[in-house]
Amino acid sequence: MSEKLGDKAVDYAPIPLPTTSIDLPVKSRKSTIFRTIAVLALGAITFRIIHRCVKAHHKCHQPSSLADPDSRGHLTVKQAEQLFLAVPDTQRAIKTSKEYATLPHLAGSGQDFETAKSFLELLQTELSIPTPDELPVFNAGSEKSRHATLSIPSLSEPSAWIDTYFPVLNTPLGRALDIIGDDDQVIWKANLEESEEDGDPAGEYARTIGAWHGLSKEGEAIGKVVYVNYGRKEDFDHLLAAGVDLTGTIALARYGGIFRGLKIKAAEEAGAIGVLIYSDPRDDGSVTVGNGYKPYPEGPARNPYSVQRGTVAYISIYPGDPSTPGVPAYENATRSEGGNIPRIPSIPISWDNAKRILAEIDPDTPFELNGVPSKRRIRLMNQVKNAVTPIWNTMGVIPGHIKNEVIILGNHRDAWVNGAADPISGTVSVVEVIRGLGKLLREGWIPLRTIVIASWDAEEYGLVGSTEWGEDFSEWLQKYAVVYLNLDIGASGSGLSLGGSPSLAHLIRGIAESLPHPTDANRTLWDARQDSGTLLGPVSEWGIDHLLQKAQELEFSTDPYSTGVHALGSGSDYTVFLQRLGIASSDGGFRSTLHDPVYHYHSVYDSHQFQERYADPGFHRHVAIAKYLGLLTLRLTDSIILPINTTQYSLQLNSYLAKIESLAKASSITPVPDFSTLRTAIRRLQDASVKLDHDKAKAEKKFRKASRRLLRKAEKCKRLRRSKFRSFVKHIFGVRGTLAGAGPARREEDVHIVEKHTNPGRLPRKFLKARKAVVKANTKLKNFEKGFISSEGIKDREWFRVDLFLYQSSRRGAWKMEGYGADTFPAITDALDAKNSSWAGLEGIRLSKHINRLAEILED
Ligand SMILES: [Zn+2]
Repeated sequence: MSEKLGDKAVDYAPIPLPTTSIDLPVKSRKSTIFRTIAVLALGAITFRIIHRCVKAHHKCHQPSSLADPDSRGHLTVKQAEQLFLAVPDTQRAIKTSKEYATLPHLAGSGQDFETAKSFLELLQTELSIPTPDELPVFNAGSEKSRHATLSIPSLSEPSAWIDTYFPVLNTPLGRALDIIGDDDQVIWKANLEESEEDGDPAGEYARTIGAWHGLSKEGEAIGKVVYVNYGRKEDFDHLLAAGVDLTGTIALARYGGIFRGLKIKAAEEAGAIGVLIYSDPRDDGSVTVGNGYKPYPEGPARNPYSVQRGTVAYISIYPGDPSTPGVPAYENATRSEGGNIPRIPSIPISWDNAKRILAEIDPDTPFELNGVPSKRRIRLMNQVKNAVTPIWNTMGVIPGHIKNEVIILGNHRDAWVNGAADPISGTVSVVEVIRGLGKLLREGWIPLRTIVIASWDAEEYGLVGSTEWGEDFSEWLQKYAVVYLNLDIGASGSGLSLGGSPSLAHLIRGIAESLPHPTDANRTLWDARQDSGTLLGPVSEWGIDHLLQKAQELEFSTDPYSTGVHALGSGSDYTVFLQRLGIASSDGGFRSTLHDPVYHYHSVYDSHQFQERYADPGFHRHVAIAKYLGLLTLRLTDSIILPINTTQYSLQLNSYLAKIESLAKASSITPVPDFSTLRTAIRRLQDASVKLDHDKAKAEKKFRKASRRLLRKAEKCKRLRRSKFRSFVKHIFGVRGTLAGAGPARREEDVHIVEKHTNPGRLPRKFLKARKAVVKANTKLKNFEKGFISSEGIKDREWFRVDLFLYQSSRRGAWKMEGYGADTFPAITDALDAKNSSWAGLEGIRLSKHINRLAEILED
């Protein structure tokens, strides 16, 4: 920068230097001498003034190469937040929902590609990104795709593009479900598709995408049916204990409790040859036909013909493309068989069909888990087309002042059918966040940190788009990513559920407490966690939701370190970030509760009309989530010290320890595993974290002080120059109405503009020292969660590398039960499940090593 100084100084010196060689007419010798002296004196004075000004300019600020300095300004953090909060709008939210959720857009389909391009266009428009002649759609692994992500730290202007990955996905060809009579004749044939109902235009697409299981196994199975309840491990254990042999049977499981893939895995392990999974109204809380509610679309109860699609990939083994575990799914990738897909066929069925099958078991007591097989055999047939399929992640970047601290915000875009709640309610809120950030950019805001926005594809098949990108850029992410903020379903009911890494819990809760409730002016957004719907009536004791709700309340009330922000398990796009790359993450949204209209998850009736009429009339929840997520993004982006709370994290470890200790006790394994090393390590981490808290506070205070001093200096220089070089000053500061105008130059946030325009060599030593302390603290905070990564991964599911949380009993199948997806201290839990005391002890020691390493990072 400094080498340009000379040119600029000359450019901006408007007064020509006086010359002493002027040839003046001679009047008299005396007057000539006098005149000469006067001219010389004047020249010297002028020169001195110019010299001083130029010197002052040297001292204060060096011009930088800004293309259009006048278009840049800045806002205080508070101003930026206020400006942002005024943007999210219900009418605009409804418009976006219609735009994305009126047509089916299954991953890899033509309509999916159209939505990828719409999202790209939105980023280009809102972030003022010039539209290139050629659509920036890159094949993953190509030089252009690699460059797009890897060059993020050197960007000075926003950018957007589409990455194409090539995973193996499947689509439905045909399915059959028959009851076979004694004479081998088919006596009943199920209609397996959803029905086209009058009263919701989405019904038109009831048969467009068959009601099948994504990544399911092709095949035919003929056998007797056994009812297996939720198909959880404990359900199968119960049957086995009762002496039931499931070999050669077809398991009939209901949705809920655990992720559907795990039901199939458990059935497969128990010897079943096929699985049927149905939607049971007992899991619909009080909103049932039995309680007098009309079925959808006429009323809020379950449509009896509705079917829950969904992937059955074993994402607890590894998520993402089945054929390229751990590495990106490039078009020419070397592919394997796929170790995370079922070996037996399955199909999802409606309540209407399930009733018929249950009647085959026992028309009187169909729900008892007694292992009694059906009297007749049934035939299950599933035909699919497996193919390498292109999928499209749309990516956007807003570069900040700080290039090596990146905040990522992501939401998937693909849906099983129209997906108005899953995921478009999330997409709607993310679009509002983007519009808000766009508004700030147009007002001259430059984020402190860099923001990456992702619209993932093929999440529904097993978190594919996000996983492949995470695998593709794992090193880059571990170096630059600070936090990943996920949003999947933003609104499907009235109950708010927010989750995240414990280090983000205080931030999450604080923001939710600072925002108003979407529909009740007297309460906060955080209070919406208590909302449970208004459609009252008795709730089936056979349903699992109320049990889980009670368990969650109990956990929050008995855990002294609980913040009310639940731990994340898996089941959405944060998985690769949180559990493989060790990046602090968050997730959450409004969920359907026990007394809310029944959310037709993964059905054609997850439609825009369902949203407008039942899930979020007026779209106030969509807007509330947009405001919440926007503030979360802004606080993480613009805080001087990252709002990551390692102390909350380290205290929370006490709860996890208590949990495994009681688990060990309950499993009564001998000898009792010794976790004392673990306890000592946790204590050490807590001490280190408390010390870091002091350092953080001190660093921020000193930085603000040094910044204020630097700003005062800048103000002085500016005043000096304003009188002489007005346009120059304007150029230097590149702002109107703020630094160059009436606004006080005392805001610490302005320091980055001054800094940016100043020769680093001329920055005051105190400022540099203060900045160094801030960078040091932030680096510790950025790397903290990454300390939980173990390079060898977790035993038997090595894709997962983070030792703290794991999605063992995934709750993906029922969003209402979110919050129970996380197993804390997963490796130890695995060992305790296996009743292996020495393994548990070893895992405890291994974990202690991690925690000690974390403490070292913080102590450093
Ligand atoms: Zn989703």
